[in-house]
Amino acid sequence: MTALADILRRRVAATGPITVADYMRECLLNPEHGYYTTRDPLGAAGDFTTAPEISQMFGELVGLALAQAWLDQGGPTPLVLAEPGPGRGTLIADILRATRAVPGFRDAAQVHLIEASPVLRAAQAEALAGHDVTWHARLSDLPQAPLFLIANEFFDALPIRQFIRRGGGWAERMVGLVDGALAFGLSDPAPLAALAHRLEDTTEGDMVETCPEAPPLMTEIATRIARHGGAALIIDYGDWRSRGDTLQALRGHAFDPPLAHPGAADLTAHVDFEPLAKATRAAGTAVAPLTPLGVFLERLGITPRAQALARRLTGAAHTSHIAAHRRLTHPQEMGNLFKVLAVHPPGTPPPPGIAPATGAAP
Ligand code: SAH
Repeated sequence: MTALADILRRRVAATGPITVADYMRECLLNPEHGYYTTRDPLGAAGDFTTAPEISQMFGELVGLALAQAWLDQGGPTPLVLAEPGPGRGTLIADILRATRAVPGFRDAAQVHLIEASPVLRAAQAEALAGHDVTWHARLSDLPQAPLFLIANEFFDALPIRQFIRRGGGWAERMVGLVDGALAFGLSDPAPLAALAHRLEDTTEGDMVETCPEAPPLMTEIATRIARHGGAALIIDYGDWRSRGDTLQALRGHAFDPPLAHPGAADLTAHVDFEPLAKATRAAGTAVAPLTPLGVFLERLGITPRAQALARRLTGAAHTSHIAAHRRLTHPQEMGNLFKVLAVHPPGTPPPPGIAPATGAAP
């Protein structure tokens, strides 16, 4: 049993069941035993991998898309280039390398990272050696300035609550104790104003999830973009108005029961993009239709870029490069599961790779 499992068992025994969000927050960010606070979880030796770790092409294309959005808005100077949840710093390093080709961008860019984990902050500092970087604990600490922001697999790590439809109300899934071990249970059903709109598209027994921290973070991002200009690309797995139990634990690149190893497995959930887009629109920015990752990367020219890189590679490096291109774009791999939500000021073109806003739901 992990040390955190023991702490959580005692807490539940003393004060009663906790929400899935409380459980997830402790597992990921407990200062002493949290998953992110104590380790670097990425890569072959870790528990999962992400698009920037799969191929440099991801960061290159995202960087050039953000730089083009900056040019389209007249190149405001200085600009804040921000990433919440930068992992090992690979993505932001690739962005900085690729945008050297865009005159003025790098000189105007001030790099701001939002990171909760001291271990990953150290990895980011190493990946970005030679760059001037400011770290923040919270997104709300970002300066008020033109904001060009990328978030990849950040929102899926934010704690979610889970609810099961019971009549016109909702029973919340809780983490309690059965025979001394952590186990899922349900609270008594109650009506919930925040889920009133989900009575339209669910029936008895359906599960829906909410991510209470996500909309306020989108408000922080969108308010800056509406006021000062900029653009945000939010990339994650999930969909518009997701349904069902999407909580998943990964350990050593394999699925793990979510309650089995608290603090020692990664915990994520699908991102429900609807509340993110709503918060964004309410803050006065345009929101383009949700774009599947594969479509986004193909529109940005990943295939010619992949071919150019392939010419320089042979043997195993060539094979893994071809596999990486397929993994990022193929509809049966990450191409369709992952979506891109783009935010930009009204009256400006969306970042390249994104179709213009329609005003209707994406
Ligand atoms: N974007 C990176 C890493 C994704 S992993 C990539 O694509 O490879 C999730 C990242 O979010 C980690 O860096 C983790 O430490 C960070 N994180 C998770 N919850 C956070 C929070 N509440 N505040 C700040 N950072 C957080």
